[in-house]
Amino acid sequence: MDVLREPKRDRRRFMGSVLAMCAITPVTSLSMQLASGVGSLTKEERDQMTPAQVIEELKRGNERFRTGKMTSRDYLAEQRASSKGQYPAAVVLGCIDSRVPAEIVFDAGIGDTFNARVAGNVVNDDQLGGMEFACAASGSKLVVVLGHTACGAVKGAIDDVVLGNLTGLLARIKPAIAATTYDGEKSSKNAAYVDAVARTNVVLVLAEIRRRSPVLDDLEKTGKIKITGAMYDLANGKVEFFA
Ligand SMILES: [Zn+2]
Repeated sequence: MDVLREPKRDRRRFMGSVLAMCAITPVTSLSMQLASGVGSLTKEERDQMTPAQVIEELKRGNERFRTGKMTSRDYLAEQRASSKGQYPAAVVLGCIDSRVPAEIVFDAGIGDTFNARVAGNVVNDDQLGGMEFACAASGSKLVVVLGHTACGAVKGAIDDVVLGNLTGLLARIKPAIAATTYDGEKSSKNAAYVDAVARTNVVLVLAEIRRRSPVLDDLEKTGKIKITGAMYDLANGKVEFFA
């Protein structure tokens, strides 16, 4: 598995580029690496970022996306830069919804984020295994559970849809229905209710990640990573982070 092997790096060349960078820009600008557009994150760039800086970087990327100021990217340069190794800063668990592609709404490039997608952004053992690989083996600093408005999977859970394997998947969302306190009409026709359940679902998934993955829970408790939720608004393209 190539991703487990780190490429041999030319230390002198890297130090030269760091010194050159320091000469013209303050060190704090290293947190802008997700936006470079000319290459993927290097190990050194990723390792210098704190979990909080990664969140800020994703927030900045979403701001660029929703204001039409996305980074002009050379995807082939990013493909070449990342071909020998990857050092993503975050792992995003999102919904399969075609309108919520994490890399695009965060204006991130090839090699910048791990992405797991499943309807309703629910978690299971395999997703947890992927997240543990991302953080404990590969060194990512952040786990983001990304829910979104008008989620069809959440609507399906509310409507008690029964369909093949989808039935079992929707069962994973149903605890969020029971846990959502809502005064108005509790139906899939009520957009505000659907969004309230989707938000609760993210909260429950975050708790489930911490409960079912001692590996990730320990990494968070020792400050090496953060685990946070976020909601993407289909109407305006904005991601609202819980933390
Ligand atoms: Zn969805």
